Amino acid sequence: MIIVPERAIAGLISAEQAFAAVEAVFASMAKGDAYNFPVIREALGEGRQYGFKSGLDRAGSNLGVKAGGYFPGNADRGITNHQSTVYLFDPDTGRPTAMVGGNLLTALRTAAASAVSIDRLARKDSKVLGMVGAGHQAGFQLRAAAKTRKFERVVAWNYHPDMLPTLGKVAEELGLPFKGVSLEELGAEADVIITITSSPAASLMDAHVRPGTHLACMGTDTIGKQEVEPSLLARATVFTDEVAQSITLGEAQHAIGSGLIKAADITTIGEVINGTHPGRTSDDEITLFDGTGVGLQDLAVAKAAVDLAVAKGIAIEVEV
Ligand code: NAD
Repeated sequence: MIIVPERAIAGLISAEQAFAAVEAVFASMAKGDAYNFPVIREALGEGRQYGFKSGLDRAGSNLGVKAGGYFPGNADRGITNHQSTVYLFDPDTGRPTAMVGGNLLTALRTAAASAVSIDRLARKDSKVLGMVGAGHQAGFQLRAAAKTRKFERVVAWNYHPDMLPTLGKVAEELGLPFKGVSLEELGAEADVIITITSSPAASLMDAHVRPGTHLACMGTDTIGKQEVEPSLLARATVFTDEVAQSITLGEAQHAIGSGLIKAADITTIGEVINGTHPGRTSDDEITLFDGTGVGLQDLAVAKAAVDLAVAKGIAIEVEV
């Protein structure tokens, strides 16, 4: 069994390698070669959350589970509140093959998902990237998105404006001019918008968004979270990682709940990758990717990390 500890992940797997792994597993899901098992999520008390995301990818020969959660007391102990570990197994024998630190991988696979959606669905001439959110994930989403189009600048809005300078530094590192703006300005200027907040109510409204925009809505991964006005989903062509999650705990839960769209209106991004759905069909179309986050993404990047660790000679091997 191979161990790749959390400390080894940084510098091991690039945004490009995470992108390739996530894109491939989205394609496998749409072909029916890979599927996610039901998610388990438990409240442990005192705000602690723990859960398991798991799945099987026959095409990628990958079976496993990400175990992890949110431990709000960790910050006081000097460790990150979100903790996760990925365990991989041989799909033929069930024997454990790897244990991989999952914290940074979670950030990378989430950023890869919005980047895949931009790559496949945004207008080729997209120049302005709009960011709604400026927390831990936002920088990762921005870095991955910057590789997909020749963006010339970034406009950003955050509910807590004092968090914007940290995101601004990421844009600066990427050589992209950065400006904090109102949501009205953001919608009027951006060709691509990434939403990555833990908001309980819509921030971005339908009227803010102009024709031709691509949105990657990444923050809503739980019942009760919401980032955009539901009527925007009715106006857009909606894509997702997994329809079952999109309609229950993703951004689409609200448009579905109010009867504005139905599950059949939502297409998996894997179908676009596989060429069985055309994706964007005009420059005026609004495309919206509801990125809910599935276990197979975690398994895909963990397997890539294991392969890279073995190739670089830094994998720790133990007998089990
Ligand atoms: P974070 O706590 O670091 O940042 C939270 C962000 O939400 C900040 O920008 C904050 O200003 C904003 N926010 C908080 N309250 C708000 C409100 N009432 N209205 C509008 N904005 C508000 O969190 P993070 O790690 O950056 O994650 C952001 C979101 O993405 C979370 O909801 C998280 O669960 C989700 N997430 C999704 C996936 C996925 O695969 N889809 C993966 C990881 C994280």
